[in-house]
Amino acid sequence: MQHPEEVLCRILLIEDTPAEADIIRKLLQDGRRFAIDHVTRLEQALSRLAAQDYSVILMDLHLPDASGVDGCARILATAPLAPVIVLTNENSDELAMAAMRLGAQDYLNKREIDRKLLLRSVQYAIERHRSDARLRESEERYALAVAGTNDGVWDWNCKTDAFYYSPRWTEILGWSNETARASGVQCWLEQIDSQDRESFEHALNDLKSGQASHLEHEHRIRTPQGEERWLLVRGLAVRDSAGAVQRMAGSVSDITRRKQAESQLIHDALHDSLTKLPNRALYMDHLDLSLRRYLRDSSKLFAALYFDLDRFKNVNDSLGHAVGDQLLVEVALRLKSCLRPGDTLARLGGDEFAILLNDIAGPTDAIYVAERVRDHVTKPFSIEGHIVYTSASVGIAVSSGAYRKPGEILRDADLAMYRAKADSNVTYAVFDTNMHQQALAQHRLETDLRHALDAREFFLCYQPIVALEDSRVSGFEALIRWAHPERGVVNPDDFIWAAEETGLIVPIGWWGLAEACRQIKQWQQMFPSTPPLSVSVNVSGKLLLTGDLPKRLQALLEEWKLTPDSLRLEITENVVMDHGEIVMDSLLTLRALGIQLQIDDFGTGYSSLSYLQRFNYDTLKIDRSFVHSMSDKVDSSAIVEAIVTLGNTLGMRVIAEGVETPEQVRRLRAMRCPEAQGFWYSRPLPEREVTGLLEQEAAGGSNTHVLRFKSGTCH
Ligand code: C2E
Ligand code: MG
Ligand code: MG
Repeated sequence: MQHPEEVLCRILLIEDTPAEADIIRKLLQDGRRFAIDHVTRLEQALSRLAAQDYSVILMDLHLPDASGVDGCARILATAPLAPVIVLTNENSDELAMAAMRLGAQDYLNKREIDRKLLLRSVQYAIERHRSDARLRESEERYALAVAGTNDGVWDWNCKTDAFYYSPRWTEILGWSNETARASGVQCWLEQIDSQDRESFEHALNDLKSGQASHLEHEHRIRTPQGEERWLLVRGLAVRDSAGAVQRMAGSVSDITRRKQAESQLIHDALHDSLTKLPNRALYMDHLDLSLRRYLRDSSKLFAALYFDLDRFKNVNDSLGHAVGDQLLVEVALRLKSCLRPGDTLARLGGDEFAILLNDIAGPTDAIYVAERVRDHVTKPFSIEGHIVYTSASVGIAVSSGAYRKPGEILRDADLAMYRAKADSNVTYAVFDTNMHQQALAQHRLETDLRHALDAREFFLCYQPIVALEDSRVSGFEALIRWAHPERGVVNPDDFIWAAEETGLIVPIGWWGLAEACRQIKQWQQMFPSTPPLSVSVNVSGKLLLTGDLPKRLQALLEEWKLTPDSLRLEITENVVMDHGEIVMDSLLTLRALGIQLQIDDFGTGYSSLSYLQRFNYDTLKIDRSFVHSMSDKVDSSAIVEAIVTLGNTLGMRVIAEGVETPEQVRRLRAMRCPEAQGFWYSRPLPEREVTGLLEQEAAGGSNTHVLRFKSGTCH
């Protein structure tokens, strides 16, 4: 291995005097370290330099083709990275100095030169040249890095107060180079936005005093051209051994775009893109502020108003989503115009809007706004050539010390809105605590209902259906009951609506049909009759909507080996009218299977005669409200008679519901109503009582069920 000292040093010697060249050669004689190329003319030297790198150039300043510093200048221009040592004669120090100023590393007087001096000068030139190269490289790297980051650089000499602004920094500040040269730190500070200036000066002082190890601060500046820019300023301090700051320096990044993107993101996260209104998150934030303000000072009343657009879904479905979207935009525009600047109007999602009113005098102010909302929303909208009508029922919740979270207020406004919707005579409702109690009770009911099916808490009662002519039992209606562990037996009117709302009516309905089939089979086996005993079961529209009903019923009939006439389905008339093709198809398939269909509560909804015919219903059940008011002042006898006639004409069975008195029986018979059901005959009975009843009759040897009840334990 070669020792570093032995690394070959290539020297270009430019010397036209042979004797002097020889002396130099001899002095450098050290075969291992130096390889010497000797030329006598400048032109030769230049062509050597073009072809080869040299560690050192030794040159005489008096050459045949160049004299003085010109030659030196040309050498330096051709090989700027090679160290040049000029060789001079006596009395040419001035010339030598001129060469040094041009960039030569050293000069040696040929008369005084000795080996030691020469070697030291060569060695020194090489070393110095190397460290110059390293420095240059490091400077270049640093300059490149700074240029690459597009950052500005600042440097503050704290002793002299001289402040350096790099060109990029100058550009960011919107200054000219002259301004930058003439400006101290104060000029920068003066351009900082007044909102940020104090905190930046703090940060700078913390760095200066040593409280902070480094500076990192974001602030706004305003350029002389009036543009606002966001800057990220970083810096470090250099201290003397006593800890006093000598200088501070750092970088400046223009982060305006990032800040704009950030604030756009924040804006988007808090606003609805369609209407540009605040969204739920921002609304809740404002509501939270109002609540906190109120909890600190109870004179700062506020109110939350909550509403959605009635029939919005219809607009979307019939006129398309573009019209629906435009309606939301127009509603937002109209409502904005009826609010004060401090109020918040937000779109919470879909067609739901909310308003926050601050500094109100009391609930009356909120009611006043609710009425204005109603007025604005009910005026027709003209959208893409369509006249669109909508309306809104507004729920209002007013500040109260009982609230701890904004969500509670919105929840109550929501509850009040549902109350307002439920009452078609009002357009707004102000929340009161009863509503909350009712909502809690409803929630409890729903929770219990979910549990009831698994816990087998449902059972069926059966109410006889009787032929009016001879009081024969022609069948039974299955009516569900809920054996609630705490409330006792709960009637369907108290829970079916909740089951409908939650969709639990579907699994409950499947259970009811299966249970009825099991029961029918049991009774048919115990008490065979002609025709076979039949039971009607109430079926929710939601079950029909699944489209599965015919398939599942067929499977049930097969499972229990029942004839289709054993089972009748009671469907309220609105179900038939409200629903579309799925329900229609299911009804037709059920008819084709031979299952009888009955229209329940006939007269309370709306029926079309064409539907009555199309589905070939078997039975009309006259709603009990008509039967009850047959003898009232508002006598419904004519209606009952009309329904009986309609049924008889269409060849349908007609059953009068809710028969309670002998007078009603008499009238119905006179109208030639064929069948009836009601407390006069029997209340709904539990399974074992029906079994007992059927047993009695079987013992009497009859294969029909002749009876006339007055008792019943299961209402
Ligand atoms: P609905 O189908 O019209 O049933 C007749 C209702 O009238 C039954 O009430 C019955 O107990 C009652 N009722 C019978 N005779 C008289 C009477 O003389 N006077 C009076 N005031 N009422 C009488 P219930 O059992 O409380 O059922 C109420 C409603 O709940 C039913 O009306 C039916 O729509 C629904 N429902 C009952 N069971 C089921 C079921 O299993 N599934 C579905 N989806 N709904 C059911
Ligand atoms: Mg019924
Ligand atoms: Mg009914």
